[in-house]
Amino acid sequence: MNSSFEQYEVWFVTGAQLLYGGDAVIAVDAHSNEMVKGLNGSGKLPIKVVYKGTANSSKEAEAVMKAANNDDKCIGIITWMHTFSPAKMWIHGLQQLKKPLLHLHTQYNKEIPWDTMDMDFMNLNQSAHGDREFGHICTRMRIRRKVVAGYWKDEDTQHKIGIWMRACAAWADAQDMLIIRFGDQMNNVAVTDGDKVEAEVRMGYHVDYCPVSELMEYHAQVKDADVDALVTTYFQEYDHDKKLEDKHTEAYQKVWNSAKAEIALRAILKAKGAKGFTTNFDDLGQTDGSHFDQIPGLASQRLMAEGYGFGAEGDWKSAALYRTAWVMNQGLPNGCSFLEDYTLNFNNTNSAILQAHMLEVCPLIAAQKPRLEVHFLGIGIRKSQTARLVFTSKAGTGCTATVVDLGNRFRLIVNDVKCIESKPLPKLPVASALWIPQPNFEVGTSAWILAGGTHHSCFSYDLTAEYWEDYAEIAGIEMVYINKDTTICDLKKELRMNEIYYMLNKALC
Ligand code: MN
Repeated sequence: MNSSFEQYEVWFVTGAQLLYGGDAVIAVDAHSNEMVKGLNGSGKLPIKVVYKGTANSSKEAEAVMKAANNDDKCIGIITWMHTFSPAKMWIHGLQQLKKPLLHLHTQYNKEIPWDTMDMDFMNLNQSAHGDREFGHICTRMRIRRKVVAGYWKDEDTQHKIGIWMRACAAWADAQDMLIIRFGDQMNNVAVTDGDKVEAEVRMGYHVDYCPVSELMEYHAQVKDADVDALVTTYFQEYDHDKKLEDKHTEAYQKVWNSAKAEIALRAILKAKGAKGFTTNFDDLGQTDGSHFDQIPGLASQRLMAEGYGFGAEGDWKSAALYRTAWVMNQGLPNGCSFLEDYTLNFNNTNSAILQAHMLEVCPLIAAQKPRLEVHFLGIGIRKSQTARLVFTSKAGTGCTATVVDLGNRFRLIVNDVKCIESKPLPKLPVASALWIPQPNFEVGTSAWILAGGTHHSCFSYDLTAEYWEDYAEIAGIEMVYINKDTTICDLKKELRMNEIYYMLNKALC
């Protein structure tokens, strides 16, 4: 399933005013055009920038904000004050704006032309004070936004805009996101549950329940020829023991049944227009009717790689967050996955957490070609020989994220992690990663636990905390970031301060 960036655009609006005469506005317009062309031509931005002209008055500022709200393609607005644009003229526009905002603090001219600079130059190149005036009104009005400061041609500046664009795309995607729960939450589990109404209000996505019996209607309709074709694809795509291709073995049948489950899942998700799903290993259909003979873990692995959000044991918050991570991660080289803190490995300064799941780890993070294997899995309602993709994951730095429901708000918890080489598990053949949470095992895990973090998280090698920061800013949710500088003492202070901040914030809203 694709969510290409091509369907989206980001608008660029230049702030000016008519004080300096029509010629100045014409020059501002020409400069802005050149800058937008330059940004689009840089190859550094994943989403097209569309120049929407100058806003010279309150009416014009309001009109462009309203137009942005009503245009489905527009996923965010970049504003830049080329001249001094008195910020009261932005009040009504900012009151209207519902799309994410990036305030770009840059200047058309790179260096001061010391010998030739005159008042005409100054009447044009006023970002130094113009952008502060605009920033003030945003802060005064409590407008959430990203501020990027830097020369517009610099890679660093463009990279920061690109990160924000990816967060905007994920945000737009989430406003139209449906997560399907096949079966309910795993009984008694607290951290994966939460307020689905508030999630829709705050983060945009909608969560529905679907009885497994309805999924089984799709399952019953899957054509054998389609299953045969998918099994052939498996054997082409993944390493496997040649014996697995022997159609007379139970193992082959298990692979075949897995392929059938995958086709059924994809069909119902497509029919419902869903972007993600959850499963529950205790709910796999009635034994006397159409049913899954094993947990559809292979299907979940492959659907995750395709972009479907996934959360195990009914974890819909992780399913939605994984979909968001996947959208932001599109086109980046190293991939993302749903993961679970599986078991600990104490080894002094290299103490680490093995990340895995009973089956469902996304092959996008694999270090080598995944291997298709069938082994007994003694969990859930139908203990059975079960197909799965087995691999270890790449070494390197990454970032993992989760959302928890604290009762009065959602908290996004983000932790930088260092993935080290994980080893094969011959007696527990599952896909895995092995990481050291930053700043180290002791502080990283203590901080995560104090923040109330889940055992499930959405990991990416490519997404840094800045992506999540932009996402949290757009969503207006709390973010707790655990990184190389984290100390438990400061983290506790932050958590206590945030408790008050969000209580007051809620009262003010
Ligand atoms: Mn789990």
